[in-house]
Amino acid sequence: MKYIYIAGLEHSGSTLLNELLAQQPGVLGLGEVGIFFSPAHMRVYLERWGRDEEARFCSCGNPWENCEFWSNILHLSGEYSNAPILEKYQHLFQYIGERFPEVETVVDSTKGTPILKLLLDNKATLSPSSLPITMKVLHVVKDVRSFTASIARKTGHESLLGFIRTMNWWIGGNAELLRMMNQDFRVVLYERLCKDPDAVLDEIYSFLGFEKTTNPPLSSENRGSHIVLGNRNFLIRNRQKIRYDNAWLMNDRISLAYLLNWKARRLNHRINELAI
Ligand SMILES: [Zn+2]
Repeated sequence: MKYIYIAGLEHSGSTLLNELLAQQPGVLGLGEVGIFFSPAHMRVYLERWGRDEEARFCSCGNPWENCEFWSNILHLSGEYSNAPILEKYQHLFQYIGERFPEVETVVDSTKGTPILKLLLDNKATLSPSSLPITMKVLHVVKDVRSFTASIARKTGHESLLGFIRTMNWWIGGNAELLRMMNQDFRVVLYERLCKDPDAVLDEIYSFLGFEKTTNPPLSSENRGSHIVLGNRNFLIRNRQKIRYDNAWLMNDRISLAYLLNWKARRLNHRINELAI
């Protein structure tokens, strides 16, 4: 079985990539598994969204307790269990191997670097004896200026200093991921994915070893998906679609922050060269 971990900062296109990959036959998109397993993250998630009934729905349209995938392993949720995250992942892979033998690829869009490190350091212990797992990482990155605009939209802070700080956060998170890069990693640039999804997906599929199929259009059916944190309506309200918001191009303060922050520019250029 192939296991794909989507890494990167928030607002970088991980949900979109998870959905695009899950359109392929044999692929099961699970969403932010590590967040679902983590007691600390689940506390934050439920504090923020818990009053919204839809927050407890899977993308298949059912509440977690009725979803054919999650209902049987709901006890692994960080809401109910403090067991080590690694143990929960081991349990998850065993469960998939036993109950969903038709699944060839699992996509996890947890994003976070600590969980990625934990899984990479313990890669050998993840595979159930009957099911060898090969792990690959897709590191999604948004252009630092566009990322800064996304964060500003979320926080409402639009100061030059704030923009420079956001850019430094982007540098820290992405540089850390790039240091972990090896032959099982690829960098995916969100801008390029939006502009030319077919070409970028072709390259991703060849890296993942998928058979060449035509790229189905992104539909709301999500046939191969049990994205745990958010049902369809919830996702549609919150997710990024293949639609690129280039309002940042007209934000002179972001351009100025970019010109002043040479480290951000240097890494932005490097990522452009590295990316699929
Ligand atoms: Zn489901």
